Amino acid sequence: KMAFESLSDKLQNVFKNLRSKGRLTEADVKAALKEVKMALLEADVSFKVVKQFMKSVQERAVGADVMTGLNPGQMVIKIVNEELVALMGSETTEIALRPAGEITVIMMVGLQGAGKTTTTAKLAGKLKSKGRVPLLAACDVYRPAAIQQLQINGEKQGIEVFSMGDKQSPVNIARAAVEHAKSRNMNVVILDTAGRLHVDEEMMDELVQIKEAVHVDQTILVVDAMTGQDAVNVSEMFNEKIGIDGVILTKLDGDSRGGAALSIRATCGKPILYVGMGEKLSDLEQFYPDRMASRILG
Ligand code: GDP
Repeated sequence: KMAFESLSDKLQNVFKNLRSKGRLTEADVKAALKEVKMALLEADVSFKVVKQFMKSVQERAVGADVMTGLNPGQMVIKIVNEELVALMGSETTEIALRPAGEITVIMMVGLQGAGKTTTTAKLAGKLKSKGRVPLLAACDVYRPAAIQQLQINGEKQGIEVFSMGDKQSPVNIARAAVEHAKSRNMNVVILDTAGRLHVDEEMMDELVQIKEAVHVDQTILVVDAMTGQDAVNVSEMFNEKIGIDGVILTKLDGDSRGGAALSIRATCGKPILYVGMGEKLSDLEQFYPDRMASRILG
């Protein structure tokens, strides 16, 4: 299944019907909007988000007959497109980095299996290609395989991985990693923290401790797009408990519905920075709300 395939199919059908009608009545437009609403709900977009989205679309559609040059069908399509872009945050958000002469500390957080360790390495590669000198720090001491995985993926990209095995506390490792980066004139430290099966107090406490100990600049949450509403709930929870600056949505390549991509910005208020589009280290793409909307509407 391709990204957004099923949502895209449904919306394209609605619009095809609209276009084929020629002259449209108000009832036709109403019926089409109802189908748009159903398609979004089936795509696992948050109920609250769908409600607000439909309200905006309807308000604009009612006042839209003043616009020139478009028939009602085209108008509805244009409005839905623009509102989808707005829903996803309108603009592309870049990760805020300090000037190259300073160290930016990025903390990667997320639940186990979300793709955090893979994404951490992917992000380091992206920053390296932008001319930064990143250090990957293996702070997931609970899953020894995670340390090894980070080392392998760092090596593949010529990126140094800092590890102290699994006997030190994550806070100590994070501190030592930042010191190491300083002494080597590196300018980004990316902390791969532990992923647990569930959001629990202990996990959150540990993340807060790391955040304070090394003055984390950017906390980035990695969530699995295929988990739909769960991804949305996890984002809200992490943002409430530790504060996040942005989200990376993984496994979008296998997500035919798109509910998480469409809901996260509106529910937790934080931007999607990148999307994971596959298992390869190069499969990380910047998030463009307008391109996503085009992909959905075809
Ligand atoms: P972690 O437990 O959160 O650290 O997860 P991992 O980084 O170990 O990833 C879990 C699985 O998801 C691995 O098999 C990854 O290859 C896979 N994965 C991660 N990101 C993506 C993605 O964007 N697309 C696909 N298809 N698979 C991904």
